[in-house]
Amino acid sequence: MNSRKIAVLTSGGDAPGMNAAIRAVYQCGQAMGFEVLGVERGFHGLIKGSFVSFSPQTMDDIVHRGGTVLKSARSEEFKTPDGLNKAWQKLKEADIYGLIVIGGDGSFRGAQTLEERGILTVGIPGTIDNDIPCTDFSIGFDTAVNTIVNAVNQLRDTALSHERIYVVEVMGRHSGWMALYSGIACGADAILLPELPADLSLVCDRLRQSILMKKTHSIVIVAEGVGGDPQARNTEQSSAFQVANFIGKELNNETRVTILGHLQRGGNPTVADRILASQLASRAVELIYEGQSGRMVGVQKGQVVDIPISEVLKHKRTLDERFIRLGELLGAI
Ligand code: ATP
Repeated sequence: MNSRKIAVLTSGGDAPGMNAAIRAVYQCGQAMGFEVLGVERGFHGLIKGSFVSFSPQTMDDIVHRGGTVLKSARSEEFKTPDGLNKAWQKLKEADIYGLIVIGGDGSFRGAQTLEERGILTVGIPGTIDNDIPCTDFSIGFDTAVNTIVNAVNQLRDTALSHERIYVVEVMGRHSGWMALYSGIACGADAILLPELPADLSLVCDRLRQSILMKKTHSIVIVAEGVGGDPQARNTEQSSAFQVANFIGKELNNETRVTILGHLQRGGNPTVADRILASQLASRAVELIYEGQSGRMVGVQKGQVVDIPISEVLKHKRTLDERFIRLGELLGAI
């Protein structure tokens, strides 16, 4: 190893806990004798050579903050041979020995293209969707689910006072993890997931039963990828409005919609996300130190593991059958 410099970037959607991961890369990198640089705005910034230095002061006040101090961006240019060349050139000019990429599967595809050009790369899964294969959890998921549960707790006060049905739309265009976990955790009466057919007649039967049993209010959790127009988020054509209209007509009930939207992305990371971020980042730096490349760190059954990124990208993350079964047993699926 000639150079002692490593760099870290955040890419794709921001997720709470990314800052804790950046901090841990810095601290662990320093401890292992590396100079640690940041790259602003993901691969877009890499193409521009937007390297920034860290100091203990800049790392002092970030562990508890959501978002990413390095900023995140998406870059179409990076996907082109010319963009990749520029990024490669900037890494060479800055004499970077290894690059740590925090993001989702798209970001790992980007990392893989750099690794194919001989850059030592390691990926850290950071996305609230929890849709990355080969790891049980991604950084940000726990915080996002807690945010949903807190929001539903507040909605329940109004739902109860006015004896209403609330349809709550949560993020998840292709992945129902957030809807499934939050639906179970907040005791939803029905959970609709993109992975399963949406049987709205069954949902109405359940809600009728609840009304017969003198339940005064109900919560239905809908992932944004369920039916609806995928381009029509936050509008009357979105999944939640379609579900609410159907239920409202069938049950002749005043049904309200709440779309949580980007609220779910922000907020102070939970303890679970801070610990996960710190563990994964520390292992990522170790891998670079060991000269290992093209790997993603993750957690499986409570243990930190590392897997070839090529392997991760071959798979599709599916929902855990045990939680679907649990949702069924609880009468919500
Ligand atoms: P999220 O799950 O939050 O959307 P993500 O990492 O999957 O995160 P993407 O927008 O898919 O987000 O990817 C982030 C960036 O990674 C892209 O803007 C692009 O620069 C790079 N990238 C994505 N796919 C590829 C690819 N096939 N080849 C090279 N780079 C890619």
